[in-house]
Amino acid sequence: MQRSTSRLSLTLFSLVSTGCLYFVAATSALLLSRFEGGLAFIWGANAYLMAKLLTTRVRRWPAIVLACATASALSTSLFGMGPLAAIPMAIINMAEALIVALICRHFLSGRPAIGATRPLMVFILALCVVADVVTGVPAAAVASLLTPVSFGAAWLQWYTGHALGGLICAPILVMLMQGEFRRWRRDKSRAEKIEAIGTLALFTLVTVHIFYWARYPMLFAPLLPLVLIAFRIGHMGAAASIVILALIGGMATLSGVGPLTIISADMGERVQAFQFYLAFSFLLSMPVAAELNGRRRLYQLLRDSEARYRAIAEHSGDVVLNIGVTGTIEYASPSAMEQIGCAPELLVGQLAAKLVDPQDRPQVVAAHRRALTRPGSIHTVEFRPLLSIGAMEWCEMVTRAVVDERGQPSGVISTIRDMSRHKARQRALQQVAARDSLTGADSRRAFLEKLEAEILRAGTGVRSSLLLIDIDHFKAVNDQHGHGVGDEVLTAFVDRLKPGLHAGDSIGRLGGEEFAILLPDRDINGASQLCEQLRARLADPIPVSGGKHVVITFSAGLVELDGSSTRSAMLEAADKALYRAKHSGRNCFRLAA
Ligand code: GH3
Ligand code: MG
Ligand code: MG
Repeated sequence: MQRSTSRLSLTLFSLVSTGCLYFVAATSALLLSRFEGGLAFIWGANAYLMAKLLTTRVRRWPAIVLACATASALSTSLFGMGPLAAIPMAIINMAEALIVALICRHFLSGRPAIGATRPLMVFILALCVVADVVTGVPAAAVASLLTPVSFGAAWLQWYTGHALGGLICAPILVMLMQGEFRRWRRDKSRAEKIEAIGTLALFTLVTVHIFYWARYPMLFAPLLPLVLIAFRIGHMGAAASIVILALIGGMATLSGVGPLTIISADMGERVQAFQFYLAFSFLLSMPVAAELNGRRRLYQLLRDSEARYRAIAEHSGDVVLNIGVTGTIEYASPSAMEQIGCAPELLVGQLAAKLVDPQDRPQVVAAHRRALTRPGSIHTVEFRPLLSIGAMEWCEMVTRAVVDERGQPSGVISTIRDMSRHKARQRALQQVAARDSLTGADSRRAFLEKLEAEILRAGTGVRSSLLLIDIDHFKAVNDQHGHGVGDEVLTAFVDRLKPGLHAGDSIGRLGGEEFAILLPDRDINGASQLCEQLRARLADPIPVSGGKHVVITFSAGLVELDGSSTRSAMLEAADKALYRAKHSGRNCFRLAA
């Protein structure tokens, strides 16, 4: 309750002070510059209102406009064209500020920062091309009705007074209201502040000289320091010099001294000429300062981003390379030393392909070309490095093209990562997957792949055989001794058979107690002999835990591989032969039909 009351009194205070400031600005303009008894020649009050609207939320606009309209009406009725003109002039003044504020809001979506080029241009066009042209008509109508001033002269007075007053004062007020001056004080170094103050003091001296002491009309003289200030100090400096010029030049002109006294017309025209002079000075320095300000910000952003990316590249464990279109290394990150044992500066200028093992070069070069033809996409390739220290055997290279300002690829950025550990893990996993965990024989999948390859070899005239084995009455082993002993027997079974095989032979566990043996370069006769030898290897009982012994036999089906057949047809043929062996009383083998 207390908080909302204090907030309300704060809002009321700010509204009253807004109204008072508008009143002071309007009244001083009326007292100082109603040279012909009609409209004022100088009008800064609306610039203040525009700046206020441009820097506050829309929902606060009605209250601000009401406060300023009251101030405008009071000022006009007390010091201007009288009570009759008070309400119409208040409405016209409010309309001018609202038109500018609405256009700026519409085109700039959000709060405009006049310190940049686009907002400044939108503001200038809204004020000079729309608001003052339109509102000048009713204002001149009121003035020509209530005073002896003609419609045309009144329109011109309105247009110049308001457009020039708005141009000179509003941007500076917006900057002040948006806290630009505070930011400037916070961000600038001591040396920069001293330079700014010194330059502005010098500019003040030049202006005083031109308007008070100079023997010749040298209005052009402040323009050079004005541009210099825009370059060195930026838009805050440009704004401050315009204020200095307006204050010193305005005071001199209104008190009848200075270079504008060469205009032999009345004070109104001199003031108008002075306002033109100010507006041109403003248009000369502010857009330059705004543009420079924009570039400075862009440069700062670029520098920050460059520093960020440099930090990433330089502290990354991966090697970061910039490679040109022709494949030449243009930049190598410091980690190159650690990863490939080569100083980055020695890598620069070399062909990136030289870092790659010749076996993998074609893939790496192809990935580089793909990246260049498809900018924006990422291309990954694995390769073996030619140079490496430590255990770096495999690398992964992620490449992406960099495009220039025309969108043409100017090179690529590649990050090279050590993949050796990943590859080793991958290999270990593959090995695990290729082995049967209980018996150490080939897994079903690994065995079938070998069988497939051997059938292909058989197609070239090689004579090889396949033996399909099933342990006899294995269920009984489990039943009598338990599943654990059954497992021991399966392992021992493979261990017994293995020494009887040749180096190129493979034994695989196809499932349960069913095995297969691949006998490359062995025809059906050789395979039959081997089968008999294997059967003999099981003659001795297998010792198992608990001091027991188990005797097992196996039945087998034998087939010679047919190069024109398929893997499943070969297995089926062997299986049929195995079935016949089982039916022939077990512990024997049969040949496939
Ligand atoms: P046959 O002579 O007709 O082949 O008789 P069998 O008892 O061997 O019959 P079958 O092939 O139907 O039974 C195989 C048994 O092998 C059934 C199952 O309990 C057992 N077995 C399969 N895999 C394993 C295993 O990994 N460990 C153990 N201990 N037993 C297994
Ligand atoms: Mg079986
Ligand atoms: Mg069996």
